[in-house]
Amino acid sequence: MGDLLGHLCQRISREGPLNIAQYMEECLGHPTYGYYMGKNPFGRGGDFITAPDISQMFGELLGLWCSIEWLALGRPGPVHLIELGPGRGTLMSDIMRVAKGVSGFTDAIQLHLVETSPVLTDLQRQALSEFSPTWHSHLGTVPTGPALIVANEFFDALPIRQFQRIPDGWCERLVGIDEKSDGKSLRVGWSSPQLVHPLVPKQLAQAGMDSVVEVSPASLNYMRLLSERLNADRGAALIVDYGYAKSGVSDTFQAVKNHSYTDVLAEPGQADLTAHVDFEALITVAVESGAQAFGPISQGRFLETMGISDRAERLIAGATPAQAEAIRSGRERLTHANQMGTLFKVISVTGPDLEPPVGFVEATA
Ligand code: SAH
Repeated sequence: MGDLLGHLCQRISREGPLNIAQYMEECLGHPTYGYYMGKNPFGRGGDFITAPDISQMFGELLGLWCSIEWLALGRPGPVHLIELGPGRGTLMSDIMRVAKGVSGFTDAIQLHLVETSPVLTDLQRQALSEFSPTWHSHLGTVPTGPALIVANEFFDALPIRQFQRIPDGWCERLVGIDEKSDGKSLRVGWSSPQLVHPLVPKQLAQAGMDSVVEVSPASLNYMRLLSERLNADRGAALIVDYGYAKSGVSDTFQAVKNHSYTDVLAEPGQADLTAHVDFEALITVAVESGAQAFGPISQGRFLETMGISDRAERLIAGATPAQAEAIRSGRERLTHANQMGTLFKVISVTGPDLEPPVGFVEATA
């Protein structure tokens, strides 16, 4: 039995079934056996590839966005440049390369990386040491002051809870022990129903029978904190992730290992667990906190507006035929509707006094 599986079975025998958020927290963040604690999940030899690994153009255009927003803020110094979930540090390296081209920007930047994985913190240290970053396990400890915040594929990793509608109300999806397996494997079960569940959004309360609703209290808390901070201290955030523009009913809880989908319960701690991001819920929290929110717009549209085609042409002009092919296919993967262009979406949150950020001028939420 896998070590985390053993730990989970013991915990469930002691405390009863776990909700999906508790299960995700254990699988991703358990200090010894958690997915993000012991391994580097990125790249061909890992479990998944993210946009910064597909092409340097992704980070460069986010760097351009940060540079323009810094100028729009009136060139504050110091400015906290904050990345949530920086992975291997590739995205931030590309952002900083562009920032170097903007007079005064890198001198103004204080770099903060919000990361829980010790393995990835080491890789970020190697990639970004020249910028003397400070690490935090939560946004809450980053000092106050004007801020630019970026997050790519961060919110999808935050725990969700799932609820299903049945004739008697709403049940919560739980993870328990499969008694048929001699107590050695897990199975999904459901809590007893509640007529009205406080976490199920009001507009979905009358969803059809058997509908599944996902809620991520951890994401909403993060968004509230981020928005309050941009309100109080000025600044702008750019959030990129896969997900849906409107809150709805769907079961998007998924496990990925070796670039393939796998059963969410089969190998706890060995597979990446994520869920699609509910952008409407994030935007609602941002606006309730007094911030401005923009988008969501598709990643394809955002990157095209930021100039990915021109950037690709410039890179291709100095490239070998093989490199040119990689640049073209990278742009396609990032922007085409049947690849990452539509499923991935971008939102921006800013303090109350900023003009719509670059890329969102016609996309006020
Ligand atoms: N942004 C990177 C990595 C995305 S993977 C890229 O685009 O390649 C998710 C990242 O978020 C990893 O760095 C992971 O360790 C980090 N992470 C996951 N949950 C976290 C949490 N609760 N707090 C801080 N970082 C977290």
